[in-house]
Amino acid sequence: MAVDALCSPLGPPACEKDAKALQFIEEMTRSADAVQESVLAEILSRNAQTEYLRMYNLDGATDRESFKSKIPMVTYEDLQPIIQRIANGDRSPILSSHPISEFLTSSGTSAGERKLMPTIQEELDRRQLLYSLLMPVMNLYMPGLDKGKGLYFLFVKSETKTPGGLMARPVLTSYYKSNHFKTRAFDPYNVYTSPNEAILCPDSFQSMYSQMLCGLYERKQVLRLGAIFASGLLRAIRFLQLNWQELAHDIRTGTLNLKISDSDIRGCMARVLRSDPELANFIESECSKENWERIITRIWPNTKYLEVIVTGAMAQYIPTLDYYSGGLPKVCTMYASSECYFGLNLNPMCKPSEVSYTIMPNMAYFEFLPHDPNSPTVTSDKLVDLVNVEVGKEYELVITTYAGLCRYRVGDILRVTGFHNSAPQFSFIRRKNVLLSIDSDKTDEAELQSAVDNASVVLNEFNTTVVEYTSYADTKTIPGHYVIYWELLSKDSSKFPTQDVLEKCCLAMEESLNSVYRQGRVECNSIGPLEIRVVKNGTFEELMDYAISRGASINQYKVPRCVNFTPITELLDSRVVSSHFSQRLPHWTPERRR
Ligand code: AMP
Repeated sequence: MAVDALCSPLGPPACEKDAKALQFIEEMTRSADAVQESVLAEILSRNAQTEYLRMYNLDGATDRESFKSKIPMVTYEDLQPIIQRIANGDRSPILSSHPISEFLTSSGTSAGERKLMPTIQEELDRRQLLYSLLMPVMNLYMPGLDKGKGLYFLFVKSETKTPGGLMARPVLTSYYKSNHFKTRAFDPYNVYTSPNEAILCPDSFQSMYSQMLCGLYERKQVLRLGAIFASGLLRAIRFLQLNWQELAHDIRTGTLNLKISDSDIRGCMARVLRSDPELANFIESECSKENWERIITRIWPNTKYLEVIVTGAMAQYIPTLDYYSGGLPKVCTMYASSECYFGLNLNPMCKPSEVSYTIMPNMAYFEFLPHDPNSPTVTSDKLVDLVNVEVGKEYELVITTYAGLCRYRVGDILRVTGFHNSAPQFSFIRRKNVLLSIDSDKTDEAELQSAVDNASVVLNEFNTTVVEYTSYADTKTIPGHYVIYWELLSKDSSKFPTQDVLEKCCLAMEESLNSVYRQGRVECNSIGPLEIRVVKNGTFEELMDYAISRGASINQYKVPRCVNFTPITELLDSRVVSSHFSQRLPHWTPERRR
């Protein structure tokens, strides 16, 4: 059939395959409610005999009314005992009638450990389906992507086994190691410069080095540059800053750095390597310049856009990305999690502040809890169905998945921006309770408080206490790092804690932070050493005066535990008397799941 004949309301497709994908999006979004109804019926009927649904006496019902009246809304903590049983090896149908194939380790934590999300084999197909919709949409806005390649920095992370023998790993590690990714069919619109062997190498230095080397060899073919998160792309730029001499040496000589010991990478790089002194000279001349502004377009001159998530916590990296890329468009293609992949951006060339994700109704059953920060008691009778959300309102996302999560609160707050057909579109507002985030780490107020408490124990013998504190995610450094402002009270001025003691406090804080933070510090190098800035006595009173001068109520004033408003960070910085960094890495090993 001619492509024109399949023209989609979204625009003329680039090829027949794209036409089918766009048509699928149209079908799903036009009949969003009917699709949701049948997704719920399918989930409930196939899981009718599971322990979980039987516990709530659903008695095989598959309709919305029975589901809503009998099944409660839950959090991860509610499900944890059940999840632990599965992790310990109970293979009976507890949540899902299909066998749990593995656990996906979320970057959200519970009691300091990554959450374990059960998944089933066929979820891979659903994720693959969502991926297959991304390029057809992109091709509508950016023609000619079949004329070059994408330089995407993609990584796997370490994996562990639960006591019952199931694999536990991040969702992307699971996907990159699957045949869906490894043996994907050639698609001229989606060719990467990074070989699978480089992506799949668990050593992050070797993986990044070889991906960068391939990207440099193919610098003129690269049409788009990306990573999952903005922080990841900036880490790649930092890597280039630190390693360009060795990379240029390899390009000059056509040999591979001996630090790359992975035999699979060495095997595949042998096919890529060639001596190219002209390219080596170019890399050296660009990278040795003091000024790295627009380095991305200088090295990869045909780049049309950056593909990275810059919504949510990642918005803090937009100015730095603009600096290195000369303001190239930043494309956020999808919204997903370990629990479930949710949807895609149908207008990918829009400004970051305008990004909206259209939830695909075939991925799971979606409900929405109206979000009211002033009313903490929530009940499931307030839940609204996908097609009934209202434009302009904020909701917390609640999902029921094929893998057996029922009315599960994801923790993301979304605002409805409009509809595509009958499917709503959402802007990502924030993740609930996250105070600090640099990469995929998420630190909440309670975690920060207990880290400060643990670190202040180090000060006891100096008769010193932390009287006030606040924090700030400093992303001006690459990688970014946590800054904690401390106001100290020392009862014995002759014994004020020394530099060495405050450095120990930094490490003590890091040791107390959750495992995703510590993994970022140790394995991924995506978070820099934590810094404590000691401020002059009286600084937090000044902070309160400032807040009151701007209209805060003196009775209700509470010290903010995280600050990012520039006048406040400037005030704090101007009162700093000393600053101290963690000198060692905190403890981290791939988690043994109890
Ligand atoms: P994880 O469970 O570690 O896979 O993390 C999933 C979480 O990452 C989501 O629940 C969101 O909080 C966040 N996230 C994923 N995609 C996006 C996006 N496109 N924009 C903003 N935040 C996102």
